[in-house]
Amino acid sequence: MNLADSEVVLSILSDDGYEITKNENEANVILLNTCSVRDNAEQRIHGRLGNLKRLKNGDEKVVLGVIGCMAERMRDKLLEKEDFVDVVVGPDEYRKLPEYLDTAFAGAKGIGVRLSKTETYDDIVPYREDGLSAWISVMRGCDKFCTYCVVPFTRGRERSRSLSSVVSEIRELSQKGFREITLLGQNVNSYNDNGNDFADLMRAAADVDRNIRIRFTTSHPQDLSDKLLYAIAENENICNYIHLPVQSGSDRILKLMNRTYTIGHYLNLIEKARDIIPGVSFSTDIIAGFPTETEEDHQMTLDVIEKVRYDGAFMFKYSPREGTKAYRFEDDVPEDVKSRRLTEIINLQQSISNEINQKLIGTEEVVLVEGASRKSENDLSGRSDTNKVVVFPKLAGINRGDYVKVKIRKASSATLIADVIGKVDFLENKVVETA
Ligand code: SAH
Ligand code: SF4
Repeated sequence: MNLADSEVVLSILSDDGYEITKNENEANVILLNTCSVRDNAEQRIHGRLGNLKRLKNGDEKVVLGVIGCMAERMRDKLLEKEDFVDVVVGPDEYRKLPEYLDTAFAGAKGIGVRLSKTETYDDIVPYREDGLSAWISVMRGCDKFCTYCVVPFTRGRERSRSLSSVVSEIRELSQKGFREITLLGQNVNSYNDNGNDFADLMRAAADVDRNIRIRFTTSHPQDLSDKLLYAIAENENICNYIHLPVQSGSDRILKLMNRTYTIGHYLNLIEKARDIIPGVSFSTDIIAGFPTETEEDHQMTLDVIEKVRYDGAFMFKYSPREGTKAYRFEDDVPEDVKSRRLTEIINLQQSISNEINQKLIGTEEVVLVEGASRKSENDLSGRSDTNKVVVFPKLAGINRGDYVKVKIRKASSATLIADVIGKVDFLENKVVETA
């Protein structure tokens, strides 16, 4: 989401005459787009700011700014801690960044931290460099108020972009040759544009260009609808991959987290999705060591991981966030216990990811070619429908942006190694040129 927001910011600033440089030594303006979800994300920003401070010692004025959630959360308190920061601008005030930068160049502090009930930046065409995969924020903010989470406070109230503006953005991306689009929202299931829900949006998005793959994130397990599951199943170009954060396997902890579903509901949902979308895979988010979490609660989390058999997971230690409801609970799981539980969760998930991937050996996958593999110039890499990284030999005639059918030869928990069968016409789902 921050990467998508950074593209909005780059667009606003380049419209105002700024040019983008990759070289921080050359920049007159340096903005760090920040996350507040966990304390370690914020600590890294304090570290980066410490490093960037030296760039302000040259002859030319350099404006250093913090944007995003940390700007929103800390506001002018950030300036008490880091007085060399010139600009502090939260996620709903990016349109006014040029003004705040002018203020900073004039020698004052530029501070903009008002949240909006309506801002969606839907008229701003994000500055995209990639040319292949794009993110589109279809909604902003969050109204769920999970008790551990700072997002509703830093990103404000939930609001949706219009379906028509999303569709026309996809049309433009299609004309520019993009091949993959990820629709973003903190809880996309709450999407609502005058009665059009997220399933309507997904169908409309998939319909723009059948050669564009559509992904989405994130779904809240409480309101993932059957209608959305059918939309995924019935559209070949919507990926069969659902990120469905469970957070904990214990109903008691889920209640304390205000997650508003039970594990029974969650597992039924997984089963239903598997019925409706054959071959669908899941990933999740898990928090270890939420206040009052016992060994039994922790065991229930391990049990859920075993039962669902996720393809992948993002796993975190609980981090108390000031201003949230859980901040008032005692953070009573000792650090070493949190670490041990997290390690157990990570180890279990890794072995499951590995087992799932080993079973894929000998099967065929359709991969969108992204470019040279990270490890070898002689290989290409891309992602499968279920979002797995696949590496395969570079062959003449296969280029970035092509869809290829591959056969999996080897697998680890993170990567699949494959042989190329041939290029595929994604629309027709058939091999058109054998390797
Ligand atoms: N809106 C998304 C995710 C937002 S934050 C959703 O609801 O799924 C991404 C993930 O960070 C969350 O799913 C959660 O697992 C984790 N997270 C959020 N707040 C946290 C905290 N205080 N401590 C540890 N992990 C946290
Ligand atoms: Fe945070 Fe919960 Fe909203 Fe996700 S749904 S952003 S975890 S409050």
